[in-house]
Amino acid sequence: MKVLIAEDNLVSRRLLETFLRKWGYDIVITSNGREAWEVLQEPEAPNLVISDWMMPDMDGLELCRRIREMERAEYIYFIILTSKGKKEDVITGLEAGADDYLIKPFNQDELKYRVKIGERIIELERRILRLASTDSLTEVLNRRAFMERMEQEINRSFRENSPLSLILADIDHFKSVNDRHGHQVGDLVLQRFVSKLTESSRPYDFVGRYGGEEFVICLPGATGTESRTVAERMRKSVEEMKIMLPESSQSVRITASFGVVTLRLELEDSMDSLIGRADDAMYMAKREGRNRVCAAGEE
Ligand SMILES: [Mg+2]
Repeated sequence: MKVLIAEDNLVSRRLLETFLRKWGYDIVITSNGREAWEVLQEPEAPNLVISDWMMPDMDGLELCRRIREMERAEYIYFIILTSKGKKEDVITGLEAGADDYLIKPFNQDELKYRVKIGERIIELERRILRLASTDSLTEVLNRRAFMERMEQEINRSFRENSPLSLILADIDHFKSVNDRHGHQVGDLVLQRFVSKLTESSRPYDFVGRYGGEEFVICLPGATGTESRTVAERMRKSVEEMKIMLPESSQSVRITASFGVVTLRLELEDSMDSLIGRADDAMYMAKREGRNRVCAAGEE
């Protein structure tokens, strides 16, 4: 795990560096709050900060306050390390948003275990985030997480003037699978269906469960033609799949209908209109006989 150190005192910095490396952490070293703040703006920045309080340019308290105000998906655990040991100082540090407080000169083992506490909290938070954003049956993004990520991708498309497409995929006659074979088989079918969608998508695409047997795939950078090719690949692989039922010689085959839509950059397209048009295209595929790909018209 990565740890960011902010400390202006050379001796103390070397000490922290030596210990943390010995304990197996990847470390990024800075000598004041401003440098540390800059490191935190980069992608893949550390989630755990050990910072001195008194530093030139930007002190540890200011760094901590800024971190608490910043919008970031993941939590940053902040340990303040200082020779200011009075009760009021401790309170000021915690008030600024520090998670923990260590008084210099620090005890090596105490630092080690306090860093471990931070590591545990960061891992718990990651686990919670993952659970909160995943559909438990199919392990793709749930609807809310998918929409959040797609919103970001749409904004990026407008910013960079790059294409973006969306595929809406719905299993044909899924209700009859459940009625004939029961919900356990229905769940298995959903899982296998999703694995086909995922296998047929490109590395930067992401899949979400939109509802029941309806799934969405966002294709950043894909034009209409490219996304239709991907959807057709998905349709074919679903059609060719034979799902063997557990403890039986029976198998199930399914097909699906696909609606494809591309973001209209010149029209300030919104996510709602994009999904609405994908939905229309998918229903057109259903109306025209299912097991097919329909693209939204360029009206
Ligand atoms: Mg200092």
